Amino acid sequence: MRGMMMDMPLTTTSLIEHAARYHGDTEIVSRTIEGPIHRYTYGESYQRIKKLVNALGDLGVGEGDRVATLAWNGYRHFELYFAVSGMGAVCHTINPRLFGDQIIYIINHAKDKIIFVDLSFVPVLEGIAEQLDASIKIVVMTDQEHMPDSKLENSLCFEVLIDGQSDSYDWPDFEENTASSLCYSSGTTGNPKAVLYSHRSTVLHAMTACATDGLGISGQDIVLPVVPMFHVNAWGIPYACALSGAKLVFPGAGMDGASVCELLENEGVTFTAGVPTVWLLLLGYISENKKKLPDLERVIVGGAAVPQSMIEAFENDLDCRCIHAWGMTEMSPLGTLAHMKNNMKDMTPEDQMAYKVKQGRPVYGVDMKIVDDNDAELPHDGKAFGELLVRGPWVTNGYYEDEETSADSFDADGWFRTGDVSTIDERGFMQIVDRAKDVIKSGGEWISSIELENIAVGHPDIAEAGVIGVAHPKWDERPLLICVKSDGGAVTEAEMLEMYKGKVADWWIPNQVVFIDELPHTATGKIRKTELRKIFADHKLPA
Ligand code: AMP
Repeated sequence: MRGMMMDMPLTTTSLIEHAARYHGDTEIVSRTIEGPIHRYTYGESYQRIKKLVNALGDLGVGEGDRVATLAWNGYRHFELYFAVSGMGAVCHTINPRLFGDQIIYIINHAKDKIIFVDLSFVPVLEGIAEQLDASIKIVVMTDQEHMPDSKLENSLCFEVLIDGQSDSYDWPDFEENTASSLCYSSGTTGNPKAVLYSHRSTVLHAMTACATDGLGISGQDIVLPVVPMFHVNAWGIPYACALSGAKLVFPGAGMDGASVCELLENEGVTFTAGVPTVWLLLLGYISENKKKLPDLERVIVGGAAVPQSMIEAFENDLDCRCIHAWGMTEMSPLGTLAHMKNNMKDMTPEDQMAYKVKQGRPVYGVDMKIVDDNDAELPHDGKAFGELLVRGPWVTNGYYEDEETSADSFDADGWFRTGDVSTIDERGFMQIVDRAKDVIKSGGEWISSIELENIAVGHPDIAEAGVIGVAHPKWDERPLLICVKSDGGAVTEAEMLEMYKGKVADWWIPNQVVFIDELPHTATGKIRKTELRKIFADHKLPA
């Protein structure tokens, strides 16, 4: 017997229509590339989105076409999210921090028809224009007054394009599994891999983002996504804000501590999200300038492991909750969040902290298991660790136009191989032990590079740390700790090694510490371990 409920497709247009109808007077605030702060409402945004769709139609964009963006978090980017997907085309967000060759690969692989580019990234396109298909149209995301004197041929101006367009548009009907957006995961090896989201996956993910044990975004929130819209759709936050009617505050290109702090303070932001690196900058600025952010309630930290010291700084200095989250491009990205449970209330703060530093428990919709080398499931006892596999309605079922990688990415039952190695405990909390490629294999046992890094950055003199395995004649590999000192930091190797005593098994303690000026990073801010391994390929550990 079939249920008798309306069959309404879950589409991104339904999100922005809802925002315009029921939260039409809620503000969207953006720090612009041109300089001033821009303010308008969901209602005004929706009018411009419809003008933009009409303009895209005039440019020849049709269903399924890829329309790329190379842009910061701002209102025009937000408009593109909904205009492009809503007309049945695919919004392809490009990470401008990738190397030129990778950007060329991505644009050609996606066969983008148009690229919308922020003023700051015009030089990126100028540098690679000759290697792109000459038919690709370029639209600069600014007004006539700020149009750059660019080498790019035939570049168009965003505001000129939409000026004079009609703000009425009949959205097409399509099936909810239609592709809505495309994002390439910036793997540390090989070519970037394309993850193609659907309208359905995006809406289901947005609903979860609004659940209390998800990101908990609601109509009462003022939300500042520091995480870029070119990285997994800013963790789905623009969609979740439209769904809930939260006020949105876009930081533009200002990712430094002072700029983020200014917006958090002036706009009364209650919720923000980003990677640990940006929070280090913010916390540094806040402690130097004795700032308090009384409105700020929750900070999500994901993309890399959060050090305990960071959770404590947010809790103690700013009286705000710091929630650890884990996910990946292939998962839209939400997988787990370290929210406490009702039966954990009576735990001591120290015992709770042991869970807060874990990556967290799965939200409904994400199922996970850990397996050994033969794909046999391992127990959820918080000790056994193996590769983490996931499944769910917002997890990819294959990479776009990449059968070879897709074939290796799933087990026999269709679960996605995350490439992360983790434990899962009795309460369902998952903890990343390492990337499968980064664990250090010492004497047949595994050492977690992440755990050693977390302890190192707990030292006030250390700004950043990376641990890699270095060849060892007896143990196969042994850990080498590579640190960048914070300004004025004077810690010695012996003091660093002493820190590990009692925190990890003796045989986990690194064999050596080296101090360098800077660590190599990926385009998404993670430490580029492949590069570190190259730099230290011939390194000899002391006897
Ligand atoms: P991306 O697809 O660029 O978002 O990267 C996803 C990968 O980042 C995951 O597979 C993890 O290896 C890593 N990652 C994401 N969140 C965390 C976290 N909270 N702790 C440790 N690693 C993380």
